Amino acid sequence: MIHYLDNAATTRTLPEAAEIAQQVMCEQFGNPSSLHKMGIAAAQLLKESRETVAQAMGCTPAELFFTSGGTEGINTAIFGAAQKNRHIGKHIVTTAIEHAATIQACRRLESQGWEVTYVAPQADGHVPAQAVVDALRDDTALVSVMLVSNEVGTVLPVAEIGAALKRRNPQALFHVDAVQGLFRVPLTPKKWNCDLMSVSGHKIGAPKGIGAFYKKREVHLQPYLVGGGQESGFRSGTEPMPQIAAFAQACRIRAAHMADDVAHVAALKSYLIEQVEQRLPWAVWNGQGDVPHVVNLSLPGCKSEVMLRVLESKDVFVSAGSACSKGKESAVLRAMGLDKKRIDSALRISFAPFNITQDIDALLDGLEAGAKMLRR
Ligand code: PLP
Repeated sequence: MIHYLDNAATTRTLPEAAEIAQQVMCEQFGNPSSLHKMGIAAAQLLKESRETVAQAMGCTPAELFFTSGGTEGINTAIFGAAQKNRHIGKHIVTTAIEHAATIQACRRLESQGWEVTYVAPQADGHVPAQAVVDALRDDTALVSVMLVSNEVGTVLPVAEIGAALKRRNPQALFHVDAVQGLFRVPLTPKKWNCDLMSVSGHKIGAPKGIGAFYKKREVHLQPYLVGGGQESGFRSGTEPMPQIAAFAQACRIRAAHMADDVAHVAALKSYLIEQVEQRLPWAVWNGQGDVPHVVNLSLPGCKSEVMLRVLESKDVFVSAGSACSKGKESAVLRAMGLDKKRIDSALRISFAPFNITQDIDALLDGLEAGAKMLRR
């Protein structure tokens, strides 16, 4: 039996989502732009899928654009906003705990003469709204922050940040990377004064390679991809209907069970904390995760990469940090000011609704065995 506890990296595709993708690939495979019956059926499926995903994102269908995932949404937002708002100034505010997609997009803009302020988190992984507000300047063109940290599970105060930004710099754009927030916390971009928002399907049981981007109706950005004019001209390219239909199906299932799923995952987190405190009382928690699906802990003296191998040999899968950091020291934990011993031994454990307490028991057995071997 596999104990997959790396759901912030990606999730298993829900069988119902895989089923509809298969059906759309092999039977209902028309191009939504075709004028015949099969095209019309595909266009109808696209419309229904857009309505479903828009509901999950708290926006209207006309404000939703399908993308290839979170990275594309983030790139679209950052480069699009920079292009649109460069007349205001060349300053961006983001945080030091963002996903690589945001950090690398900002780095590229820095190489083109932009200035970026990376607001530091507190030691517990929280980023206070005031710290972001203090970084705003008259020439700030864009603020981009994540909703939920993929490494320590903290929730950022996006509503306060959005309100303060629009009071101080009404023309500046506000982008929220909500990839880890979808179906974990309600998405309410209108209440947050959010102009742009990115989510990704593979974090909620849809296949990889599909995401969605919210763009407030009044905000006009230059399209990132041009061509056949699909997605109202904002994102050209034949719509990936199997992934889109599967994403919508995953949204329907997750929406129907959101409250139960959140409660179930919260119970798993409590069980993990209780068991770690009993069995590994010397372990240290990193950050104070607000969402239940991501927790981060260090076992000082046990190198993460080695512990990952020990766990893997027992079919327990967790990660040492963000999947995209691929073994490099976590910039997020460093920004939180943790010492090297803690950073080098950090493990991120992330749950999905299908996890059960046996997964945690297997994890604890693996951690105890690993610690016996590795702890110095
Ligand atoms: N933002 C966050 C917070 C993430 O956790 C991820 C996932 O790795 C991404 C962005 C990138 O999303 P995707 O893998 O869909 O490109």
